[in-house]
Formats: sequence, C-alpha cells, structure tokens
Amino acid sequence: MIRPKRTKIVATLGPASRDPETIDELIRSGVDVFRLNAAHADHDTLRRDVAAVRDAALRLGTAVGVLVDLQGPKIRIGSLENAEPIFLQRGEQLVLSCEPGVVGRGARGGEPARVGSRYFGLAGDVRPGERVLLDDGMIELKVETIDGTEISTRIVHGGLLKQHKGINLPGSSVSMSSLSEKDLADLAVVLELRVDFVAISFVRRPDDVVRLKELIRAANSDARVVAKIERPEAVTNFAAILEVTDAVMIARGDMGVELGPEVVPGVQKRIIRQAIEARKPVITATQMLESMITNPRPTRAEASDVANAIYDGTSAVMLSAETASGKFPVRAAKIMSRIVRRTESELFGEADGWQRRAVLRRGESVTLATVQAAAYAAFLADARLVAVFSESGHTAQLLAGERTETPVYVFTPSQRTVQRLTLVWGVTPLLLSRVDSVQAMMSEAEELLLRLGVARVGDTYAIVVGTSRRPGIANILKLRTVGDDESVGVQGG
Ligand code: PEP
Repeated sequence: MIRPKRTKIVATLGPASRDPETIDELIRSGVDVFRLNAAHADHDTLRRDVAAVRDAALRLGTAVGVLVDLQGPKIRIGSLENAEPIFLQRGEQLVLSCEPGVVGRGARGGEPARVGSRYFGLAGDVRPGERVLLDDGMIELKVETIDGTEISTRIVHGGLLKQHKGINLPGSSVSMSSLSEKDLADLAVVLELRVDFVAISFVRRPDDVVRLKELIRAANSDARVVAKIERPEAVTNFAAILEVTDAVMIARGDMGVELGPEVVPGVQKRIIRQAIEARKPVITATQMLESMITNPRPTRAEASDVANAIYDGTSAVMLSAETASGKFPVRAAKIMSRIVRRTESELFGEADGWQRRAVLRRGESVTLATVQAAAYAAFLADARLVAVFSESGHTAQLLAGERTETPVYVFTPSQRTVQRLTLVWGVTPLLLSRVDSVQAMMSEAEELLLRLGVARVGDTYAIVVGTSRRPGIANILKLRTVGDDESVGVQGG
C-alpha cells in the first residue's frame, strides 16, 4: 500500500517543461502544484500554461494546483549600448540614472560608467551611504551623492553587468507600489483563468496582501494569496502579514540578496514554525536542487537542505530554474520526491511520533478541538487514515497543522477545494459527489478508499465531519472499521 507523501512539491513551469509530455511526467513524479512565473511569461503563455496543466490533471485524473507568481515591484537596470555587458571595476564610480531613456555604457574618456532604470522613484528612495545590489547581489555599490535623477555610487564589488538585471535596495524603504501596472494586467488575466493561488512578490506590510485580496474579491474570484517573504520589512512584519495572508513562500533568492545568506536559515525555521502554528501553508523556495540545472545529481548539501525543511515541517518544497529552464526537469522532480519520501519515513520512524509538533491551544474553536482529538485518536488506535469531510478545506487545513503521521484523505464535493488542498501538508484531496446525508457520504467515501487501495476491510480509520446544522464547523469524530456497520467509538455531536 503506497502512502502519499505529506510534503507537497511545487515546480516552476518554463521552456524546459511546458510541453504536455513533460507536464505529465512531472505530475507522475510527484509535482502537486505548478508555479507560473509572470515575470517571464506573456499573457498568451500564461493562458497556454494554465490550459496545459488543467488538461494534464484531467488526463491523469489527479489533483494539481496552479500558482501564478506576480513579479511585484522588482527594480531593474535598463538597456545597455548594443546590448553589450559592461565591466564594472571595483573602486570606480557608477552613475545610476532614473532619467527616462538612458542607455547604459561603460566608463569612457574620464567619464564614469552610467546605467539607467525605468523606476523613476529610485533617486528618491536611496540615501548616501546605503548599499545598492545588482544582478542578485553579485555587484555591490555604495551610494555617495544624489543629484536630481542621478545617483552617484562607488563600486564595492565589481563584475560583468548584463542589461535588465535586477536591482535590490536592502537598506532602503522602496516607495514603489506593491502591485505594478504589469501585475494588475497579469492579475486580471490569471483570475479569469481561475488559477488557485496568486503569489505577491516583495511584500512589505500586511496592507500589500489586503489590497491584493480586495482586488481578487472585486474580480469575483476566490483565488488564495501567497505572500512572498523576501524583503527585510516582511521579516520584521511577518506576524502581521501571516494573519492576513492565506499562505506564505520563503523566497530565499531575494531574501538572501536583501538580508545576506547567513540570515536565511534562521528566518526560514522561524517562518515555518509560525506558519504551522497559524495552520497556513508555507512553501520553502529557491536553490533547493540548484546544481541540477546543469547536473543529473544534486549535491549532498542540497539533499540535506530539502530534508531539513521537511524535518521542520514545511508544507511544500519548490523547484525553480531546475524545472523551468534546467537540463533535467523530470529528474529533479523525481529526486525531490525521493528526498521527501525518505525524509518522511525517517521523521515518522522516530519514537515521539505525532506529538513532536502538536500545538495544543485550549478554546480556539470546536473544529480545532475536533481535529486535534482526531489526530490523537488516530495515533492511539493505530488508524490506517483520517477521513475528513470538508467543503472549503478549512477543517483539513486545521488538521494538517497537527503534522500527524496518519495519512489524511479529504473528501469534498468542490473541485476548487481539491485544487487548493494541493498545497496543504499531508492531505490527499478527493472529489466526492454531493449527497444529502452524512451516512451516505461516509459509505461513498469508504467505497472510494477501498477502490483506491488505501484501506482494506478490517482497517480502523478516523472520520472528522460536521453536522449539517452547523455548516463550516467540524464537530464529530468517529472511529470506524472498514466494512463494519458498527462504529467502534463516537465522540462529539
Ligand atoms: C525568490 O526570490 O526566492 C523567489 C522565489 O522569487 P523569484 O523566483 O520570483 O525571484
């Protein structure tokens, strides 16, 4: 009997993986959610990618989520003369200009090198003495003076600079709106396409998330918001952001540039812990199997990094360029799956079992009390699984917060909920037809469990369900034996 993996895999779609055969292979290899990066895709590509993922999910009869990652207020340098990279020499000067139409060029005839940016607020956001990072932090500048639209900087770490590379302002407070014109246009398209999750980049405050949620609601969509934590302000304001968002992504790429790589591990652990307590999905992202962009095997350090995020209880691990543009997209997903399964078997082989992460909080809600009791009862009764009946997925999400060893199968009549649960730790979502009695629902679910081979006659399993008089609240926990009409224990009511 194959147990589903608990930790979900998010794979970024791109030129190396967007053909139907590769998408099928990625799903078969364990990918639960596809991430479409709006920074690198036009609207036609987004339309085609969403359709390709939905077709594949239908073809393979499985639950797959779609997450669109909005670029957000990403600042970039402009074009360079003849598109030629320029060499920036340590100790020399570089002028950053936010005057429209500047075409960058190297130092010449006693004049310093000069590059432009299309972000007109740049000169207003930086102060003398602050750091400016180019190309994912590979090049470092120190601001010396600001004169109108011109920022005069000293090159601290030089290197070869290509056009359109990113600019990070780690010590500055960027005044650019959290959603650019491009983001708003992308959002309108992807909400029409009924994607399941929308990620917002460079979140600074809870208001950034609230604004996106308002736009989603105004478009009559119920897409869930993933707040990408990468700016220093987002780390500082994390508790408040977590309260308003539906899920979070630890965007370690930009976080490492903005805060320094040495800060990332501690922040990652803290974010995972707080997200589990808040019972919201958390994705650990970027450079997880980075060397597999070009190599068929990951480094031991990469395998260890993925495993450690799983030990800490991350809901999902993410592949970026490994699947979007790498040489071995399917192999990367297969190896990711293998690391997930192996680590989970190590994790649950430990003596302290489910109690490792239980966060018992008295009096929070009837549903929380019911799912905590279910996790405990399933452990004590050595239950094969927990079956949760859930319309919106909320009950399942609360149960996932227990990080219980017992597999959780969620039955829902909503296809949207099935797709949404692809990001939630430890749950396998299954579509069930809408029936009008709890009894009928339970027998249909039991049949499905038998048909799928995840339970056998005689197995004990736990059921979590709500009474119809109180929609949205799960208040019944039952222990049943497959194939037996008699319940072996009832609690709640
Ligand atoms: C990151 O910076 O880690 C990230 C996930 O964002 P992007 O890939 O959009 O830069």
